[in-house]
Amino acid sequence: MSLGRGVLLVIVAAAIVFASFVVTGALAVGYAFGGFAIVAAAAFAAMRTGNEHARLTPPLAVSERTNDPLLAIVGGLPDPVIALDRDWRVLALNEPARALAPALRQGEPVSLALRMPELIEAVGRAFARAEEQRIEYSERVPIDRWFQAVVMPVRRMPDDTMPDLVLLTFRDLTPLRRVEEMRADFVANASHELRTPLAAVSGFIETLQGSARDDPKARERFLAIMQQQASRMARLIDDLLSLSRIELNAHRRPDKPVDLVPIVRQVADGLQTLARDRGVTVNIEAPGAQTVLGDRDELVRLFENLVENALKYGTAGKRVDIKLAGVRAEEGEHQVEISVRDYGPGIAPEHLPRLTERFYRVNVRESRDQGGTGLGLALVKHILNRHRGRLSIESTPGAGATFRVYLPTVEPAVVQ
Ligand code: ADP
Repeated sequence: MSLGRGVLLVIVAAAIVFASFVVTGALAVGYAFGGFAIVAAAAFAAMRTGNEHARLTPPLAVSERTNDPLLAIVGGLPDPVIALDRDWRVLALNEPARALAPALRQGEPVSLALRMPELIEAVGRAFARAEEQRIEYSERVPIDRWFQAVVMPVRRMPDDTMPDLVLLTFRDLTPLRRVEEMRADFVANASHELRTPLAAVSGFIETLQGSARDDPKARERFLAIMQQQASRMARLIDDLLSLSRIELNAHRRPDKPVDLVPIVRQVADGLQTLARDRGVTVNIEAPGAQTVLGDRDELVRLFENLVENALKYGTAGKRVDIKLAGVRAEEGEHQVEISVRDYGPGIAPEHLPRLTERFYRVNVRESRDQGGTGLGLALVKHILNRHRGRLSIESTPGAGATFRVYLPTVEPAVVQ
């Protein structure tokens, strides 16, 4: 029962008792009224003291009531938020905070659940100085994660001199850090890839200006190597520019209908010389037209990379099979599947998930010897993302590799 209702009951009971004294003649009206007034005044005084007590008691533990505004506000915030009282006990926390630190309990000291010395020190400083504190910290287990925590002291009463609670809010910096790391890695890799041929070219220029100045045979040989290195740099720059162009347009879905069959045939024709040099036969199996909404140049680039890789890395198999077939995806959408299969040495399973990373190569030396940049499959992945397609790679070491591309078609494809 609430204090207010209890007081009312006492007053009503006193009124009935004193009225019955008057009715039965046990007390004179004046005395009865005086007695009733004293009881009522005492009851009101008790109620005020009770209210005062409730107001002054520091909020040590969290109220379970849902109409607690602090709980309601904290519960409605999207980022992890924890409110602590002056004794560093958890007053309120929301679901994201529970996910961040499952050991947190309302009413319990935060230091039991958050074993983060920097954070605990920041809470101490926030209370002592009544100033906002910001810290960044990382977790190593189970995976690397980075957070920013803001500890904000709050005075709930206008005349309080010191904060009576602090609010801890957390921001997950992990995606931001990953992107920063990737960008730094990318720039380092790209510079490294360019520096190697550049160093070779500079070295040969020096030799040609010095010891080989009057040696026509050496000059011929060095110029040929310099040309090779220069075209390697040109290929690299070309691939880097293509990557950034595709990324720039990633959000714009291509809208021109293009038939993939002539594109694949054009790619195979373009690579005929390479295939002949390597003694590899290219077979194409295609049903009727397979129309997708696409960017023609990007699609040519995509299949060029896949077929060229099959010819370069699968030379030993002497055969490359390209097959186009209409398939029906699970959602009932029509798709075309284009598979490029070689019968070369294949790829060990541990490399498969990383092949589309920029500059990832199973064997760097082999890739360089083949004129590779390590960006071909990264380009394939980006082109497919833009075209809402996907890539799957299957390989049995020793028995070749199959790269399968799936793209949504605009007309019902021939389902085989
Ligand atoms: P690269 O310019 O080195 O060819 P890619 O991104 O096209 O770069 O390919 C990445 C790596 O994947 C290659 O260096 C090679 O090790 C491997 N690879 C790609 N295609 C095949 C294939 N058909 N058979 C075996 N290995 C392949």
